[in-house]
Amino acid sequence: MHDPTPQTMGQQFGRRSWAEPWKIKMVEPLRTTTPAQREAALADAGYNTFLLKSEDVYIDLLTDSGTNAMSDRQWAGLMLGDEAYAGSRNFYHLESTIQEVYGYSYVVPTHQGRGAENLLSRAAIRPGQFVPGNMYFTTTRLHQELAGGIFVDVIIDEAHDPYNLHPFKGNIDLNKLEALIAREGADKIAYISLAGTVNMAGGQPVSMANVQALRTLCDRHGIKIYLDATRMVENALFIQEREAGYADQPVAAILKEFCSYTDGAWISAKKDSLVNIGGWLAVNDWPLFEELRNMVVIFEGLHTYGGLAGRDMEAMAIGIRESIEDAYIQARVGQVRYLGELLLDWEVPIVQPVGGHAIFLDARAFYEHLPQTAFPAQTLAAALYLDSGIRGMERGIVSAGRDASTGDHYYPKLELTRLTIPRRVYTQAHMDVVAESVKAVYDARGQARGLAMVYEPKYLRFFQARFAPL
Ligand SMILES: *Cc1c(COP(=O)(O)O)cnc(C)c1O
Repeated sequence: MHDPTPQTMGQQFGRRSWAEPWKIKMVEPLRTTTPAQREAALADAGYNTFLLKSEDVYIDLLTDSGTNAMSDRQWAGLMLGDEAYAGSRNFYHLESTIQEVYGYSYVVPTHQGRGAENLLSRAAIRPGQFVPGNMYFTTTRLHQELAGGIFVDVIIDEAHDPYNLHPFKGNIDLNKLEALIAREGADKIAYISLAGTVNMAGGQPVSMANVQALRTLCDRHGIKIYLDATRMVENALFIQEREAGYADQPVAAILKEFCSYTDGAWISAKKDSLVNIGGWLAVNDWPLFEELRNMVVIFEGLHTYGGLAGRDMEAMAIGIRESIEDAYIQARVGQVRYLGELLLDWEVPIVQPVGGHAIFLDARAFYEHLPQTAFPAQTLAAALYLDSGIRGMERGIVSAGRDASTGDHYYPKLELTRLTIPRRVYTQAHMDVVAESVKAVYDARGQARGLAMVYEPKYLRFFQARFAPL
């Protein structure tokens, strides 16, 4: 009777644990540091965790991007790399896998997600057009803006409230979208930029009902929907867990149904697809595909490798299949939830419900005494590194950047520090260590003084900005 899945954890016979559906074949030793070493490393890095050397980091929760552990089958796949310049067999394996799993007709490989965003933005946006989306993502919005588009956030209001327990905080507010279409006209809408899950809202999912209703609305106005499917497998698991009618469907079927309501998708394979590099763009429209396939040779490489080695495409094709196994994705999201529940038990303020890929600490609630211009989330990421060598990242005012027209900061409602869990890399014991360090930093919250930005790069400043303690 014991069903060892994350959903049934602890529900039967008192305590019955579940565990990762894999065992470890190769290990990578971790390095621990002294407080003095961490203080020096952090000062060298300008208090920006992106500028730390990874060898100075103990548990690295900077990102789930490209940090995945590959399986033995994926490593074996690397040896099957066909490094022909044109027509590599690994491309055809990848193409047919994407067609089967995601359901789109035509595939363009790219070196990573932003390569795909560049191509789609250039091909599908006319300068001055609006691009409505369910909250912005850094690279996505930047490419839309570089192509002359104007991003408009049409996510539901609940997404901006870190404690609202709406089960699908990634949903599009169809009234906001209708109002935009009514005001500007359908011709001024380039396409809908839909993301599942929504990274900047805390890894929050979009419901099947929402994408269905969006499809109906867009059909009425002749507007296309392009999906940022970077974490769409995680989104599909949330639909299985939370949406009526999907509990008995495999994640693979839910994923494919969701994609069927959209006209195309792009992906950073460095997330869901269990590889260290890669991306793709896939559409159903032949003329658009022809343009993308033509453009990819300018920016990425030939249309049968798109900036990737043959072996990388092989590992991606295998990783896509592994990513949609129910036991795998349940354990992946289950591990994130495990960490979240430890923190909630200790009343540490985090974004709720816990999302699919990360825990987001509410830096405003940690540091109520700091104004947003003292960069509370950046301050919190630095404090956590100092405490234990754990590396998280800022997702607040620094990440939001500046309004190009006024030159002022964007002031996002959410001021978060993200602890992102790499896939298949750390064990539950690492999560215990992380939770205890976060708790220690929370208990010492009154001592935080904040940071000043002393160097600011022009684009995507969060990657390279430098800070000094106030
Ligand atoms: C990472 C990411 C991207 C960009 O992909 P890269 O592979 O980093 O270029 C786009 N959208 C979302 C939601 C992402 O998380």
